[in-house]
Amino acid sequence: MEAFEYSPNPARVIFDNGTIKSLPDELKRLQLSKPIILSTPEQVNQAQDIEAILKAHVEIAGIFSNATMHTPVEVTETAVEFASSRGADSIVSIGGGSTIGLGKAISIRTGLYHLAIATTYAGSEMTPILGETANGQKTTRSEPKILPGTVIYDVDLTMSLPLWLTSVSGVNAIAHAVEALYARKRNPIIELIAQEGVRALASSLPEIISQPDSRSARSSALYGAWLCGICLGSVGMSLHHKLCHVLGGRFNLPHAQTHTIVLPHALAYNAPNVPGALEKLAKALPDSNGDAVKGLNILLGKLKVQRGLGELGMKESDVDVAADLALKNSYWNPRDLDRSRIRELIRRAWAGEDAR
Ligand code: NAD
Repeated sequence: MEAFEYSPNPARVIFDNGTIKSLPDELKRLQLSKPIILSTPEQVNQAQDIEAILKAHVEIAGIFSNATMHTPVEVTETAVEFASSRGADSIVSIGGGSTIGLGKAISIRTGLYHLAIATTYAGSEMTPILGETANGQKTTRSEPKILPGTVIYDVDLTMSLPLWLTSVSGVNAIAHAVEALYARKRNPIIELIAQEGVRALASSLPEIISQPDSRSARSSALYGAWLCGICLGSVGMSLHHKLCHVLGGRFNLPHAQTHTIVLPHALAYNAPNVPGALEKLAKALPDSNGDAVKGLNILLGKLKVQRGLGELGMKESDVDVAADLALKNSYWNPRDLDRSRIRELIRRAWAGEDAR
């Protein structure tokens, strides 16, 4: 056995159908009595459901429903002002990475306790990482205090996740596990979690597409997303996450769709240097026959997701810009970053060609 370090993130997790009903007890346990509830405009109904569950037990500081992608600092400042003017003593965020990101941004500025209710598979609730946008620039920081203290996973809330978002958000989660398997600081626990996360998602996502009402498939997907989120929060990511960060930030491409398109290409790029990771990944992917890139391509085919960054609105002339940006700041990757190979990777992803 090789030497390793393992530092688990100390979040409390509650997982089942109907778990939002445990919210009053959770706040009572923490001796919190005046939460602010966060959501996007699209999920304000779910925020109101939370308010209805809580209002017999605690005073609600208010609902702030302007969470948006990339956590713009202006929105955070308005939300911080809203929370302090209403005397909030805690934050309940309900939504995907955008809403949970806002909860983290408020919490790190105010010290308010953050309880996150995750409704996509992005995994932000399991990480001490916060990405924020100011003046068109997205910056990322990581501190233990950013991690939400309690996370509620309620399968019922994911039943409304549109099928296209279910697919791309699920592959976004798989990407965390893939990069965890070849991370510099990988360890045997995270490898087990990564394989189980991929297995749970790769088997349940196609089932959700064919049977959207399948509660057991939705449950398995959310469980897999939790595990993949642990991977993202525990070990460093490399080429794939860096490329998606660059593409999303510079060309304003949608988060989960970009991850879905880039993943097989990033994996194929790193493949020659990480045979052990590929072997583990192949075992977790059905239909791979020992070939992880093939298994991933088959999964994406079943999910009928978009395969080209051009379809998301990126211009061909931006391929070179993206290649330059991808090499700009040095970061660890299992394979050296070669400008012409990285450019070719991005071009293939742009054109929607097969990864190789
Ligand atoms: P999102 O939070 O932007 O959600 C996308 C849309 O789906 C929103 O309109 C949302 O309201 C809606 N939605 C979410 N759950 C729903 C449900 N169950 N039913 C119906 N509609 C629902 O998307 P995302 O992919 O979860 O998050 C993306 C953002 O999160 C990006 O800004 C990304 O950078 C960030 N992120 C951060 C981390 C981290 O660790 N810091 C990790 C992953 C993602």
